[in-house]
Amino acid sequence: MDSVGVAAAAPDAGPGPAWQSKCPWGAPSTTSISCSLADVMSEQLAKELQLEEESAAFPEVVAAAEGPFITGENIDTSSDLMLAQMLQMEFDREYDAQLRREEKKINGDSKVSISFENYRKVHPYDSDSSEEEVDWQDTRHDPYRADKPTTTPKRGFIGKGKDITTKHDEVVCGRKNTARMENFAPEFQVGDGIGMDLKLSNQVFNALKQHAYSEERRSARLHEKKEHSTAEKAVDPKTRLLLYKMVNSGMLETITGCISTGKESVVFHAYGGNATEDKVIPPECAIKVFKTTLNEFKNRDKYIKDDYRFKDRFSKLNPRKIIRMWAEKEMHNLTRMQNAGIPCPQVVILKKHVLVMSFIGQDQVPAPKLKDVTLSSEDMKKAYYQILHMMQRLYRECNLVHADLSEYNMLWHDGKVWLIDVSQSVEPTHPHGLEFLFRDCRNVSQFFQKGGVAEALNERELFSAVSGLNITADNEVDFQAEIEALEKMNEDHVQNHGKKLSTFSSDGDPPIYDE
Ligand code: ADP
Ligand code: MN
Repeated sequence: MDSVGVAAAAPDAGPGPAWQSKCPWGAPSTTSISCSLADVMSEQLAKELQLEEESAAFPEVVAAAEGPFITGENIDTSSDLMLAQMLQMEFDREYDAQLRREEKKINGDSKVSISFENYRKVHPYDSDSSEEEVDWQDTRHDPYRADKPTTTPKRGFIGKGKDITTKHDEVVCGRKNTARMENFAPEFQVGDGIGMDLKLSNQVFNALKQHAYSEERRSARLHEKKEHSTAEKAVDPKTRLLLYKMVNSGMLETITGCISTGKESVVFHAYGGNATEDKVIPPECAIKVFKTTLNEFKNRDKYIKDDYRFKDRFSKLNPRKIIRMWAEKEMHNLTRMQNAGIPCPQVVILKKHVLVMSFIGQDQVPAPKLKDVTLSSEDMKKAYYQILHMMQRLYRECNLVHADLSEYNMLWHDGKVWLIDVSQSVEPTHPHGLEFLFRDCRNVSQFFQKGGVAEALNERELFSAVSGLNITADNEVDFQAEIEALEKMNEDHVQNHGKKLSTFSSDGDPPIYDE
């Protein structure tokens, strides 16, 4: 009521109504009487009349803001037409629901079905916007309905005049498309578009659908490839045959399982079988299968190519045979170490790229790597000195540098350290032998210094203690330079004399030759 401001000028309406005197807050001042009841009533009536007229002239103006359909909110029930339309829609939906039930009853699960589609009052597209929930339900349970050839609905549109909405309506289709994204493979990320009122154009949706399908196919292919290659890398049929033969011949009792799968090899545990006249088989064995896939071995060329022991053979070999050479190399190196009394696996047999050796550990449980075991400070110190002596023996008696020595390739078993993984070990006069040794020394020195062994030499001291070489540099850079100069000297000697120096030894030890 807008008349409050002018109320004071209005003629007095006589004594106030009876309730005024009973009012607990006392009688209001006379100025507050805005206007007579009759005035109010007539004003209200005029307003109502106008509204009614307006809605009669433009029946759908109110709803048009939200689209031509009744949306849950803003339902204006002031118009009879609107009410009638709502009732009609409700009826139509119920009618269609009944129709669907009948359709289902008639068809059962027969392969050929009769469609009552044409008899529906409300086409699925129409119902979409009339009730948001129906939209979700429908699309979830029958997402690709639109892709099937459907008969033209009786009424492919709703609304009238300029507000007509067909099944091709952008908004309606857009919402539908968004909902259909839920039917993509679960691993296909569609973001949270499904949860909001996102409208995907047909073009975008189709592109997405295509992408989802090809992603699905791609991941299936990848998975297949991965499975295939693992089987191939670890034990290909030829390797399996080799292993079967070992069991069949009685050399091995059973192969129990895999201990480790590394980049270059797979190690299995096996129980030893019967001894032959020339061989005693250990009760438990480790089988190291060198992978026959070449990728991983490419960067290891330098270890073997420059190893004079394999020099003239290298060029003639195909990649497959080079892998066998790794196994062969590990066998030779282990034998040398065994002969020098260094704790390491004992070689049982070598067949192609499969090396059988004694198992370090017990009851199928391999000994822990030094990096995985927690030693008392006493044991730590003991382990350090043991390794120092092993490195010296390896260098002097076996004429070898481990070249991959670290807490990863040392096992703790029976209260002592065992060296494993010597396929890459080289002789000290290998063109990079001293560099490899220096790297080994750095690993060992760092491990024990971090492990709290106060007596542990630093990497340069350790290098000198192992090699006996007298390198005077007091910093790492110069030290490395001197090492490389020595290696160069050796290479020059090979060039000039066609034969390598026996050792680098500079302290008057007799040169150590092997083979
Ligand atoms: P890789 O080149 O894959 O590192 P390794 O020779 O180091 O090959 O063997 C991998 C792992 O298998 C080792 O870390 C060790 O745990 C286990 N292993 C290898 N040989 C033996 C063995 N003789 N006894 C017990 N475990 C072994
Ligand atoms: Mn290893």
